[in-house]
Amino acid sequence: MPNKPKTALSRVKEYGKDFVEKNNEHFCAICSIKINFSRKSSIEQHLKTAIHKKNSEKIKNKNSLNQSLINLDAEQVKEAFARDLLEAFTSAKIPLNKLENESVKNLFKNT
Ligand SMILES: [Zn+2]
Repeated sequence: MPNKPKTALSRVKEYGKDFVEKNNEHFCAICSIKINFSRKSSIEQHLKTAIHKKNSEKIKNKNSLNQSLINLDAEQVKEAFARDLLEAFTSAKIPLNKLENESVKNLFKNT
């Protein structure tokens, strides 16, 4: 079998949706970095890197709502709540500077 030169696109097909091809260059879609596609080992090496594992874990969590809800820490919950509240106040046309309550003000401090 002749050794057909590999193209970025053929690597994408080989390694699946984690990778994308653009202008005949091969990128890891998860880490948004360019990978040398001519060598299979450099792709496989990249798949084993801690950064790639961390990033794919992050994406997996993003895709699974239940999972991300479990992983939300208290600070994120507070932020999400403050954001929702802010939107509610804004749509109800309640000026935030009218809020004299300390605990309500604290909610918006870090957002
Ligand atoms: Zn990667």
